Amino acid sequence: FSTLRFILGDQLNANHSWFKQDKDNILYVIAELRQETDYAPHHIQKVCGFFAAMGQFANALKQAGFNVLHLTLDDTEHDANLPHLIARLCLQYQCKSIEYQQPDEYRLAQQLNEFDFTPITKVCVDSEHFMLPFNEISQYFKKDKHVTMEHFYRKMRKRFNLLMHENEPLGGQWNFDADNRVKLKKTDLAAIPAPLLFEIDVSDIKARLVRHHVKTIGQLTEPFIWPVNRTQAKELLAFFCQHLLPNFGRFQDAMTANSEHSWSLYHSRLSFAINCKMLHPLQVIQAAVSAYEQSDGLINLAQVEGFVRQILGWREYVRGVYWTNMPDYKTYNTLDAKRDLPGYFWHGKTKMRCLHHAISQSLTTAYAHHIQRLMVTGNFCLLTGIDPDQVDDWYLGIYIDAIEWVELPNTRGMTQFADNGIVATKPYAASGNYINKMSDYCTDCHYQVKDKVGDNACPLNSLYWQFMIQHRERLERNPRIGMIYRNWDKQSPQSQTDTLSRAKWCLDNIEQL
Ligand code: FAD
Repeated sequence: FSTLRFILGDQLNANHSWFKQDKDNILYVIAELRQETDYAPHHIQKVCGFFAAMGQFANALKQAGFNVLHLTLDDTEHDANLPHLIARLCLQYQCKSIEYQQPDEYRLAQQLNEFDFTPITKVCVDSEHFMLPFNEISQYFKKDKHVTMEHFYRKMRKRFNLLMHENEPLGGQWNFDADNRVKLKKTDLAAIPAPLLFEIDVSDIKARLVRHHVKTIGQLTEPFIWPVNRTQAKELLAFFCQHLLPNFGRFQDAMTANSEHSWSLYHSRLSFAINCKMLHPLQVIQAAVSAYEQSDGLINLAQVEGFVRQILGWREYVRGVYWTNMPDYKTYNTLDAKRDLPGYFWHGKTKMRCLHHAISQSLTTAYAHHIQRLMVTGNFCLLTGIDPDQVDDWYLGIYIDAIEWVELPNTRGMTQFADNGIVATKPYAASGNYINKMSDYCTDCHYQVKDKVGDNACPLNSLYWQFMIQHRERLERNPRIGMIYRNWDKQSPQSQTDTLSRAKWCLDNIEQL
């Protein structure tokens, strides 16, 4: 072969221009590697999902007539890392050049960029996945500078002419967030659709992980439920547009513990398929927009706008933040948070029902929806000052869709405010009141959500105040937060002391909460 083309596990894009070119003399390589199973402790469903999808993609390419080498852990166990594997294969197959697609992760981009393959030539091409071309990121983002997501999103709407009428937003409004924050009432619970689950046999992958002593977290439900090829990913997309999109925006922020489908609700669960590039973001957006257009009013604009905003807005935005600010971003710890992540993040055994529910669900499904990640686990780590490195490691490992470019700005930026406001203009700090407003978690909780002090008071209430007081100097000048301090100052000194001593007890006994 004259050329070796390496396909990373999250580059399963059958529409890439590579596959529209001549097949001769090109060897495509897809490989399971220890460096990828070991860079963080991953959920077993995440590893199985990636490996299964890689295997399916390799088979699909073979069937289409490409020369493909699909290597499993059995084949690569003696390769120290990715560049060494590539160098070994180039020698074995006498390739004169290697080509790869721009990795989404800084770690892999650096590794491939720095390795000297001489005399073999090295070519990096675009991954052709994102809406915003890689080389245009710098036109929208500047290092260490906050860019408002809303402004970025509006530019993207205009640029791609999505949900636009002439030069104005469809419906005369860019944002329907105010309509989209509804709590699920008891009467809404029975209508939540059962999620579409696949039945994939991953027993060979599981055996391989055991054979190679790969350390994983979480549980594997068998058969495996996530989509692992393009056909399944498209089925999940169609299912979403038909059954979930009509209520997507409305219940986007809602949480419940009282439904069999409380883990999936009206969320698409498409992130894994999109992040692996089995689906293109524009394809997903267009499917949702056309479902809206053809729905005869059954799907309203607020629902579809809420969905488009997530993909065209947030997803592209966090990628811009990541590439503009790496590698420094990974080291930011503005609030100087140092505490260890409590043990219950690994088993879910805590008396706080919201946390118990979000963590246990994450361990059993490798999934939690956005508000569980942001306002339950994320908020708890923010209020208790957990070391952002440990927070990152947890998020990077536990979710099936976790890849650093998207995980890091969401975790270190959006939830932990460790980036000093590059992503969020203020910390997403909340007391138990928010959880109670958006969920039914508090009803049967061991703790009382209405109480700030006392042994049974919801820990979030005092922790919230202690966080605000600890960071008063930094936050008080923020116009979106300043008024909160006026509330605090109105409280009696005794009440303030009691609140802060309850918070101190909670922090000193964090493992017992
Ligand atoms: P839906 O609710 O159906 O949303 C549709 C799509 O919008 C998602 O599939 C995703 O592609 C996109 N999206 C929505 N919100 C975001 C966002 N904030 N950033 C980027 N894309 C978004 N998403 C990941 O894909 N990988 C991660 O590792 C990841 N880590 C996160 C960590 C934290 C602390 C937080 C707060 C959020 C994180 N997110 C991450 C974003 C978001 O929570 C997930 O994309 C979403 O929950 C995936 O489920 P879904 O496909 O059902 O999404």
